[in-house]
Amino acid sequence: MSAQIISGNQISKKIRQELAAQIVELKAKHNLTPGLAVVLVGENPASQVYVNMKEKGCTEVGIYSEKHLLPKDATQSQLMDLIDKLNNDPKIHGILVQLPLPKQLDEKEVLNAISPAKDVDGFHPYNVGKLLVGEPTFVACTPFGVIKMLEYSGIEIKGKRAVVVGRSNIVGKPVALLLLQKDATVTVCHSRTKDLAAETRRAEILIAAIGKPKFITADMVSEGTVVIDVGVNRLDDGSLAGDVDFEAVKEKAAAISPVPGGVGPMTIAMLLSNTVQAAKDSQGI
Ligand code: NDP
Repeated sequence: MSAQIISGNQISKKIRQELAAQIVELKAKHNLTPGLAVVLVGENPASQVYVNMKEKGCTEVGIYSEKHLLPKDATQSQLMDLIDKLNNDPKIHGILVQLPLPKQLDEKEVLNAISPAKDVDGFHPYNVGKLLVGEPTFVACTPFGVIKMLEYSGIEIKGKRAVVVGRSNIVGKPVALLLLQKDATVTVCHSRTKDLAAETRRAEILIAAIGKPKFITADMVSEGTVVIDVGVNRLDDGSLAGDVDFEAVKEKAAAISPVPGGVGPMTIAMLLSNTVQAAKDSQGI
């Protein structure tokens, strides 16, 4: 039996429509326009594509956005000055620094300089700490998107055995924390996990965030599993593949997200959602 396809395109469209309606209301009732500043250093083509997609997403839902381009040889103090300016700009409710940064720049220092109230990417240690203790906070957009995909698809998380493959700070760990918050029983796997397939086969919900194309094969998945594929891998022929062997696994899974059209569009929708939340928080709405 072929799986239900969890379409990030469709779910994110719905979320963007809901946000657009909320923004109309914020503008009318509170004279408040959410604002996002995107900072891009250098000319990394992939980063430029992501930044353009984020700007387009803002325009579509009615978020004010501004792009700050710094040259690839920008200094740490140039970037820190810009962050300081944006932290103090009342038009701006969210700040996003597109990663990776050129190697002369200290990424950690930059991310830590963003005001936690404007940290719509959810990378500031203050917000990560709040996530850990279960307080409301900005959650990193990709993990947040994964949970929303499950929720919008009507998939119950509570009580399920969830297995997350990957333990990065930006995907694996926060996804695991969010699943735990939603009362799943969570196992986190990584490159040192012994007998990975035995772990993944136990999953009722399987999240793949590895960065290796088609790594999760059908024999690693049990019948009826819900599979969310976070991976984005560029193949030699230029096409994109996830971390899951989609064609084979969809024959066993109960539901599965594709790549492209899965987690990717959700990530942008959650950035927009976090920006709206930051704007509301700034006015105590
Ligand atoms: P990282 O490289 O930071 O982390 C990869 C994780 O996978 C690590 O924890 C690593 O384990 C684990 N891993 C690697 N090899 C194996 C293996 N053989 N068996 C088990 N675990 C393994 O990647 P990210 O978390 O940043 O990203 C993961 C994927 O998600 C990538 O494809 C990335 O492009 C994609 N991505 C997609 C986004 C989207 O918007 N759709 C956003 C962000 C990422 P260990 O810790 O032991 O090294």
